[in-house]
Amino acid sequence: MVTENLKEVRKKIEEACRTAGRDPDEVTLIAVSKTKPVSLLQEAYDAGARCFGENKVQEIMDKYPQLPSDIQWHMIGHLQRNKVKYIVDKAALIHSVDSLRLAQTIEEEAAKHNIRVPILIEVNVAEEETKFGLKTEEVLPLVQAVSAFPHVEIRGLMTIAPYVNDPEDNRGIFRELKKLSVDIAAKNINNVTMSVLSMGMTGDYEVAVQEGATMVRVGTGIFGERDYLRK
Ligand SMILES: *Cc1c(COP(=O)(O)O)cnc(C)c1O
Repeated sequence: MVTENLKEVRKKIEEACRTAGRDPDEVTLIAVSKTKPVSLLQEAYDAGARCFGENKVQEIMDKYPQLPSDIQWHMIGHLQRNKVKYIVDKAALIHSVDSLRLAQTIEEEAAKHNIRVPILIEVNVAEEETKFGLKTEEVLPLVQAVSAFPHVEIRGLMTIAPYVNDPEDNRGIFRELKKLSVDIAAKNINNVTMSVLSMGMTGDYEVAVQEGATMVRVGTGIFGERDYLRK
């Protein structure tokens, strides 16, 4: 099932790219594998998936040694500062940086390993109270502060759009995040690029791609519904 689902999602990404006049190579599909057993991740890997998204540090730690080493692990969930040390050298990209203190901790842990850690800034575009992320107007000041960190590299922005029945309802949110990234890119801040726009999930990734997403995070659409009780 995972293999067919992956094929279907890839096809829909290609179609959305065609609609928007974009090159499908610009869009990276992140298979969001949280709560799913390694056997299903292996199936996705065998079908060509190399980028996996997890929202818990412990789950990355568990799965990391059990799967091929060329997998890129994306940390997409809220990250506690005391857990940064466990994944700083394992995550290909941390999507969920939403405070200077968290960025500071990543800087300190990255320095210990003498590595540069790529991150995205999480933006709560819709200003939902239940979600993490910065308000739009808070993003530039944080980007400017973090740009001074030698072991952290801002690559772009991420948002989790509201849960909606009609994906069109999120088009404005995706457009707003894209605009913010273009505005920040125009400032040519040292050590900062806005090459990544991480937006779109199972319910709305096609709209996100049409609006400029370079990474879409798809879980249910690939692995099926999550059973949180089993975990
Ligand atoms: C779980 C999760 C996803 C995937 O959600 P689906 O609706 O299952 O595609 C994407 N992004 C984040 C941050 C998530 O936590």
